[in-house]
Formats: sequence, structure tokens, C-alpha cells
Amino acid sequence: MLKDQIRRVAVIGAGIAGAACAQALAQAGHQVQVFDKARGAGGRLATRRMAWRGEGGQPCETRLDHGTPGLAAHAEPFAAFVDQGLQAGWLAEWRPVLAEAGQAAGDDAVFHVPVPDNPELCRRLLAGVAATWSCAVDELQWRSPGWQLAAAGERLGEPFDAVVLALPPAQAAPLLGPHRSDWARHAALAPMQPCWTLMGVAAEHGAPAWTLARPAAGPLAWVMRNDARPGRQRVPGQAHWVAHARAGWSRQHLEQPPDSVLQQLQVAVDELLGRPVDWLHCTVHRWRYALPQPRLTAAGDAFWWDGAQGLGVCGDFLGGAGVEGAWMSAQSLAAAVRGWAHRAAEAA
Ligand SMILES: Cc1cc2nc3c(=O)[nH]c(=O)nc-3n(C[C@H](O)[C@H](O)[C@H](O)COP(=O)(O)OP(=O)(O)OC[C@H]3O[C@@H](n4cnc5c(N)ncnc54)[C@H](O)[C@@H]3O)c2cc1C
Repeated sequence: MLKDQIRRVAVIGAGIAGAACAQALAQAGHQVQVFDKARGAGGRLATRRMAWRGEGGQPCETRLDHGTPGLAAHAEPFAAFVDQGLQAGWLAEWRPVLAEAGQAAGDDAVFHVPVPDNPELCRRLLAGVAATWSCAVDELQWRSPGWQLAAAGERLGEPFDAVVLALPPAQAAPLLGPHRSDWARHAALAPMQPCWTLMGVAAEHGAPAWTLARPAAGPLAWVMRNDARPGRQRVPGQAHWVAHARAGWSRQHLEQPPDSVLQQLQVAVDELLGRPVDWLHCTVHRWRYALPQPRLTAAGDAFWWDGAQGLGVCGDFLGGAGVEGAWMSAQSLAAAVRGWAHRAAEAA
């Protein structure tokens, strides 16, 4: 049987889309190198390590999941991937106690949560794949014999046969511009929802019995007890909270100073809990591009691939809002790249 031609592929972005695409291509025998501007994998599957000082000045550390709260699987291939993670132990089921009008109201929702933290999902996918961290790729040039990547004026290794961009659309657009201006225009216009997120450690005075609230009105869309999630740190006397603001509220307050946003979100949490929270440490994070606009259709397998140039794009803005859409988009792009490598072998 004819073997696929082995290709050198650069994957820019190590969120779920980049990690899934890189893994699929590496498993097919291609030489894959991942680049990410962050210090590690995960992207929006994020967990923040907060270092702070306790009342007596002692150093404390708390890890809070300030990105995706959990995965839900609908399509069969993604459900099979989630099952695999549950069986292997890098995903766990979380059945939060839901709040209704401030009271605990049962636990009929199920989320899948990477353990011990959110980025673990992408770390697992990238096990054995070469990666360069803290590297914001800002230039993509095609010069025979292949794609040359650069960051801050420095060339990144040898040329690649193909490049995959697995980035939020606003970050993909400038890299695409010189090569596919049609894609760049589309990406630059792809609407993304922002999200202001509060992360905090509070003294646990009579914390509520619920562990997840989804208020129907007000600034907050999601409020969860991080320390009630599977595999997370629990500290006696502390309650660990993560609260995500609604997209509309976040958009209205996008350029406000973090201190002002923090104050407003703390008031919203106080109102939800019906008492002032005794914060030991609290901060906010602004996600400029948290989620694509919700699609009317289910998550799908959309991606972009230009076989003549060896250039591809995947991610949630193509596959549909959320982790599932990003993963499906990545799997489909990887299949297209494998088909391209196979046809190159046939033609050789
Ligand atoms: C607050 C919040 C709540 C969410 N809630 C849910 C939810 O309930 N359910 C759900 O399914 N999804 C949710 N999501 C969305 C979900 O996290 C994303 O859809 C998914 O993680 C997107 O994956 P991705 O790989 O496409 O992009 P990303 O995870 O954004 O990965 C892109 C990567 O590219 C890197 N990068 C960017 N520019 C460069 C560059 N120039 N060079 C190198 N690297 C670069 C980034 O550092 C990042 O690691 C939420 C997201 C947030 C932030």
C-alpha cells in the first residue's frame, strides 16, 4: 500500500483545536511542531494559578478554572473522545448542585471537566508532540521550499510543508492576510463574544448549598464553586469562586478598568448570595474572544484548507461555539491534510 508522504507541519495555537489537529497529524506519522504564545497548552481551556498573601502575610496559592467551565458532548465522535477521557481518568464528570432563586435545586446537569486542571486535556493530546512555548508567531512567509515562521523578527526553525492556524479569528486574520485575503477578511469579521471573569477566594461563612448558579438576569451568567469541581483543591475555611459575566454586560464594560469591573462583579456576587462576601483575594480576567456567536446549527466540521499553498485554519469560530466545535473542526482539517499528503505520495 502506498504510504502518505511525510510532511513537516507547523500548528500555531495549542488550544483544543491546535492540540487535536497536531495529535491527529503526529499519529499519522507527520512531523509536527506546535507554537503557542502562552507558557503552556490549553488556550481558553484555562486554569489560573493565583499567588496571594493571607491575613497574616503568609504566601497562599489557589488555582481557579477561569476559562471553559466544562465540556458537553453532542456529536458521536466527540462523545467517543469524551468517553475515552473519562475511562483514562483525564476527564471527570461534574454534577453540580444547581441553584434556583438562590436555593439548591438538585443536580441534574452533567459536565465533563479535565482533571486536575483545564489545560490537562490539551497536555494529554500533545504528549510526544514537539512544542515551542512563549512564542507569538507574527509572520508567515512562503519562500521555496516551504513556509517560514517568525516571531519578533526571529526565524522559527526550518521551513514547513504546511501550516495550520488554530487561533481565535481576530488573531488568525493578520497572519492570513498576505496569503488568503478572502479568509483574512472573513476571520476579521467573525463575531466573538467577550467575557469578564471574576476569580476569588472567600472566607467560607455559611456558603450556599448550591455549587452552580446561572442567574436569569443581572451581570452574571455563571457562578460556580471551583472547589466543588472534581479533582480541585479544597481548603478548609475557604470558598473558591469563579463567576462569568454575560456577553452583553462584558461588551458594555469591555474597556473599563479592571478595578471598576471587579467592584461591580463583587456586588453582583453579593446580591446573588444575599450577603456581603468576605473576599480574601479576588481578581478579574478579560476574555476579549471567549466564544463565537452562538450558531443556529449544531457544532460541525467546518475548516479551511488550501492544498495548493499547504495552509489550513481550524477552531471554534469555524466548527461552532465551544470545545466540541473546535475539536470537530480540527479533526476534519487533519483529515484534509492527511488526504493532501496521500495525494502527494500518489503523484510522486
Ligand atoms: C470564559 C469562557 C467560557 C466558556 N464557556 C464554554 C462552555 O461552557 N462550553 C464550551 O464548549 N466552550 C466554552 N468556552 C469556549 C471554549 O473554551 C472555546 O470554544 C475553545 O476552547 C476554543 O478552542 P480553540 O483551540 O479554537 O482556541 P483557543 O483555546 O483560543 O486556542 C488558541 C491558542 O492560540 C494561541 N495564540 C493566539 N495567537 C497566537 C500567535 N500569534 N502565536 C502563537 N500562539 C497564539 C493562544 O495562546 C491559544 O493557546 C468558553 C470560553 C471562555 C473563555
